[in-house]
Amino acid sequence: MDNEAKHRAGRNMIKARFHEYYRRNRENITPPKSMGQREFGFLLFVEGAMLRHKSFNQPSELGKFIEATVPSDIYYSAAYYMDPEAPMDRKGWTGSDLIFDIDADHIETECKRIHDKWRCDTCGASGGGKPPIICPKCKGQRFTETTWMCRECLEEAKNEASKLIDLLIRDFGMNHEEVNLNFSGHRGYHIHVESEIFKNLGSDERKEIVDYLTGVGLDLKLLNLSYPTDESDASGKLTSHDPGWRGRIARSVEEIVLRMDREPLGKLGLRREVIESIIEYRKNIGKDISEFIKDV
Ligand SMILES: [Zn+2]
Ligand SMILES: [Zn+2]
Repeated sequence: MDNEAKHRAGRNMIKARFHEYYRRNRENITPPKSMGQREFGFLLFVEGAMLRHKSFNQPSELGKFIEATVPSDIYYSAAYYMDPEAPMDRKGWTGSDLIFDIDADHIETECKRIHDKWRCDTCGASGGGKPPIICPKCKGQRFTETTWMCRECLEEAKNEASKLIDLLIRDFGMNHEEVNLNFSGHRGYHIHVESEIFKNLGSDERKEIVDYLTGVGLDLKLLNLSYPTDESDASGKLTSHDPGWRGRIARSVEEIVLRMDREPLGKLGLRREVIESIIEYRKNIGKDISEFIKDV
């Protein structure tokens, strides 16, 4: 059997397994909300062939189509349209989900130094982790990178995803049913928000949300975080129950302080009684910290 025939036989075998899977599970497909307003796309096993501009009103129609065409990948639009089957310029956009892509590639983890490698294209020098800007040996600037994704990388991506979900729920008032977390299939997670409130936002408003999430333009004065000049004015003091960024900053400070020992706490300039209160609190984790630390 030549290579081409082997390749074809392998593809047919995988396609048969997919077919079997679809046949058994077509009733279990959970379609996205408002499925009739979305465009669906299907990547077929025939090399690179993509079927687009499809729409379905019922999960059963979608199930039948999947079983008949046996695609390797299925996509649906984040956007909602008046006519999802029309050509792009005539679909009539009516809204979009909010989607966040958390990619472990972009998170600096210790393990990357072990499993990621670079090699200088000019002199062949190599090393672990991200490539340098210029090669330390020949000052070349072109590198070939080999990257990998390990359990630790994915765990970090998962932590970032859960921080984001926490923020969407606490600060934006989304509810759990509107926020879906999916493994992206390779390098991280997709957070998909299907909400009537966010559906009609334009691109400027979406950028504002990203700025809020990433802390761009965070103004400490507006958050009333400038140090109170008047000792009797307690309004600038943070508590972990404060809404938005104030509470988030407070919870992070708490987390950092609670991990510190007496000596570094002393270096922060805290009084002895305060340090002892923090140490005491550690033994009572779960209670409200303000019961222990009255006057930091
Ligand atoms: Zn080099
Ligand atoms: Zn890793």
